[in-house]
Amino acid sequence: MGLIVQKYGGTSVGTIERIQAVAERIHTTAKAGNSVIVVVSAMGKSTDSLVKLASEISSNPSRREMDMLLSTGEQVTIALLSMALHEHGQAAISLTGAQVGIVTEAEHTRARILEIKTQRLERHLKEGKVIVVAGFQGTSRSDQLLEDPDMLGEITTLGRGGSDTSAVALAAAMQAERCEIYTDVPGILTSDPRLVPDAQLMEEITCDEMLELASLGASVLHPRAVEIARNYGVMLVVRSSWTDQPGTRVTSPAPQPRALAGLELGNPVDAVEFDTNQAKVALLRVPDKPGVAAQLFGALAGQALNIDLIIQSIHEGNSNDIAFTVHSQSLAQAASVAEHIAPTLRSSYGGTISGGGAISGGGAISGSGTISGGGAADEAEVQTADHIAKISIAGAGMIGRPGVAAGMFSALAEAGVNIQMISTSEVKVSCTVAGDDCDRAIATLCKHFDVTNSPARLDQAQLTAANLPSVRGAALDLQQAQLAIRYVPDRPGLAARIFQLLADRSISVDMIIQSQRSRPHQGQMTRDIACTIRQDDAELAKNLLQAAAAELGYGEVWINKDIAKVSVVGIGMAYRPGIAAAMFESLAAADINIHMIGTSEIKISCVVEQAKGVEALRVVHSAFDLAGSETVEVPA
Ligand code: ASP
Ligand code: MG
Repeated sequence: MGLIVQKYGGTSVGTIERIQAVAERIHTTAKAGNSVIVVVSAMGKSTDSLVKLASEISSNPSRREMDMLLSTGEQVTIALLSMALHEHGQAAISLTGAQVGIVTEAEHTRARILEIKTQRLERHLKEGKVIVVAGFQGTSRSDQLLEDPDMLGEITTLGRGGSDTSAVALAAAMQAERCEIYTDVPGILTSDPRLVPDAQLMEEITCDEMLELASLGASVLHPRAVEIARNYGVMLVVRSSWTDQPGTRVTSPAPQPRALAGLELGNPVDAVEFDTNQAKVALLRVPDKPGVAAQLFGALAGQALNIDLIIQSIHEGNSNDIAFTVHSQSLAQAASVAEHIAPTLRSSYGGTISGGGAISGGGAISGSGTISGGGAADEAEVQTADHIAKISIAGAGMIGRPGVAAGMFSALAEAGVNIQMISTSEVKVSCTVAGDDCDRAIATLCKHFDVTNSPARLDQAQLTAANLPSVRGAALDLQQAQLAIRYVPDRPGLAARIFQLLADRSISVDMIIQSQRSRPHQGQMTRDIACTIRQDDAELAKNLLQAAAAELGYGEVWINKDIAKVSVVGIGMAYRPGIAAAMFESLAAADINIHMIGTSEIKISCVVEQAKGVEALRVVHSAFDLAGSETVEVPA
């Protein structure tokens, strides 16, 4: 019998009856011969109540005092739960984060865990005690204390929702057999059940998928906890504390051995990945109407062509550009599908397409390789380029750390590498560059992010994923706004400057899309860059960027808050053609227009009009047979 870490969230310990029920479950686990470490949250919504009390006194309370205040919530629960265990005749002891030795950086209200001392835990476990640890808190590190003795015993908290992180970190440090996260839902669902009534429980999901589904799952499982589980190979289960149902297993591949020191402070980027075997195809000036992406990718899927990156950027007038990458061997076939489709797209929608006059032909693509272009300036046009490389930085640590993408762009700029296309997801930023720039780009990025491994895309772990489901879940994000910057000069360094400006003001950028089309504007080649950011940040971002427009030489900046982002995530989609096509077809069938598309290997995201968001989520969810017949009980 091994060591099990169990974490109980606020509602699971929200009342005295709940605490007693939880004590019974813990007692049963211990009686079966397991060692048990329990991590608890504050009771019910008590952390929210404490935040409210503070706000009644100050609009800007000191972060140190906030930690002092909020950490009390968990302290109530550990004492009561310990007493409840004693009532069962179960030996138990409650410990605060400081008493355990959960050492964090000295960043109040958002500290990351540096180290967990295990001696005291081991001693109490040997004594046969269940240890009940206060989640979400720690104490700041001692060498910072040596310099400043006043820092002694500073209480820190890990940020809202941080008890999950405490639990998984304890499981990693103690090499627990597994970590069980008990909550008020039965596990991870295929979508938000309030929006999609037939959402189903997943039996299993990988940490990578879970991270890409952060906007769906973050309230159930904190992304920082998933990051630790993945890095240390902690076996994680999310389940209900009301039932004995098995819940959802959150799995990770066998991890690289890793020191426990600096536990949470891993680099924001843990791999620089590349694929030199890529070619791209772009369809320029296709009509901005529902069904276009569906038709194109449906035809490609019909030829069993596996598409990698897909990018559709902001439209101009009533036309869009769609670009995608394929393996070099498939270029000719993909290009001929696109050539074939271009005229039908146009004729089926008819009408005049504006904006064409300003656009030059094929020669406008920068980078090396053969470029073909055709058609008159006002017609849809296919461009292809071979010998391009896709370079990605990947790492869960980039969630919540603005500036990682900007860091990538500026490192590439310093190395003189021009970025052709950009597509980002939750835990990945991918750029296409000229094939000849690949080695230089990788070397630069490894140095910049202090990364030693730079795997080619199809490593062994991913190959074994080939029989995993193509789509695991679907998520909707209604909190985003679209931000577009027109006529950005097409030369190294501009994307870096733009995203650094935003990062400097802590504006997190979600999906960044740099389009295919480059076109002359006021005597230089330019591209448009679009991204999504939180709606609350939209005005500030627009003002910041407008103020820098003259200096950086780009044109108009606009925002659109009226958007929704719909995403599907699944590790198997990297190996199966037709997944993007199926998503686009389901949207087209519902007459939903796609404003932007961005992808990573395991995620496809579409930006649509906000009013269509929920419908889009539902049609996509049912297109992939994620729905089930069982009703999943979830609390209101
Ligand atoms: N009690 C803290 C919060 O409400 C930490 C947690 O429950 O994870 O954010
Ligand atoms: Mg939580």
